[in-house]
Amino acid sequence: SFRRAERMSGIEISEIVQLSEAAAALRAEGRDVVALSTGEPDFPTPPHVIAAAHAAAAAGQTRYTPTLGTPALRAAIAAAAGTVAGEVIVSTGAKQVLANAMLATLDPGDEVIMPAPCWTSYADIVTLAGGRPVVLPCPAAQGFKLRPEELARAITGRSRWLMLNSPSNPTGAIYSREELRALAEVLADHPQVMVLSDEIYRHLAFSPWTSMREAAPELTERLLIVDGVSKAYSMTGWRIGWGIGPAPMIRAMGAVQGQVTSGASSVSQAAALAALTGDQGLLDTRRAALRARRDRVVAALNALPGVTCAAPDGAFYAFPDITGAMERLGAESDAAFCKLVLDRAGLAIVPGRAFGLPGHARLSFAYSDADLDAGLDRLSAVLAPGP
Ligand code: PLP
Repeated sequence: SFRRAERMSGIEISEIVQLSEAAAALRAEGRDVVALSTGEPDFPTPPHVIAAAHAAAAAGQTRYTPTLGTPALRAAIAAAAGTVAGEVIVSTGAKQVLANAMLATLDPGDEVIMPAPCWTSYADIVTLAGGRPVVLPCPAAQGFKLRPEELARAITGRSRWLMLNSPSNPTGAIYSREELRALAEVLADHPQVMVLSDEIYRHLAFSPWTSMREAAPELTERLLIVDGVSKAYSMTGWRIGWGIGPAPMIRAMGAVQGQVTSGASSVSQAAALAALTGDQGLLDTRRAALRARRDRVVAALNALPGVTCAAPDGAFYAFPDITGAMERLGAESDAAFCKLVLDRAGLAIVPGRAFGLPGHARLSFAYSDADLDAGLDRLSAVLAPGP
């Protein structure tokens, strides 16, 4: 009969996906539901990218691709990063880059340090790979960022990775060059710790942003940069992400990928190449649009009773403290609060506990102004004093 593997213990379909499914189920019942729950830009994939995909398919680019990615796409990624193609792996989404890296490097019980709040998948990917997530809560008072002394305290002989994400999902926090340097200096004493810097939201920064590669060149031999086209170019469904790291690390990740999926989709790689080499002006336009939405959402949230929200520096999520609002509604947890909001007002948002920091909720503002206004109105109505 069916039996789950031990490494699956505690691993379920992500809370974000569960919420989206609950919202879809309510919609199917005929309820009017607004979802501000997914991390997916509402902008369309740019037309020149779609045209490149058509052209590639028509030209016969429909066969297996090299495991590490097509030469043209790897070269374009390497050129943009100031490195060589041998240090690049193209995968089926940034998510697969993370999974490849963990499967290629973790032995049972190896530890991966992750400042929280962090993207829900980090801990589960580490667990699936047999590792142990070491989640370090970083509250709003410290800008949701890890301090060097906290990193130093968390490192043990079993530590294999530090996972950073700047700009962050779900807080939008950006580590400054100085903050990255301070973390790198701690790592200087711990050569066994590799660094995974997830920079997938880097084009969506509203204030100055620095790559870990630039801030800490001395870490290059143990640094993996994770990036992709999903968020910046509105290409979530094309499933193209990449890793940039030292060649032996990339080869090990390729060995994993070669047994799981092989090379990423041929047509999607042609599309990603067009995104990277085509007009980049759209990044500015979209960033400006997101910034305006950010300001609108943050102002509206701070006007609600029991809600406080600092403006995120990047990405497209607001991560307000909702403890006062929870109290108003008699909700015992952020998850209970989000469930109440979905049931009473038909608004889907994600509880902070999904990211390792309860007492908060995540609202994505990668939605149209109409959806944002509708969502915020609903939240306001739930929190308004009763009749
Ligand atoms: N990293 C972070 C921080 C994310 O938020 C996401 C998507 O939500 C990903 C990686 C994965 O992106 P991809 O669509 O390339 O798999």
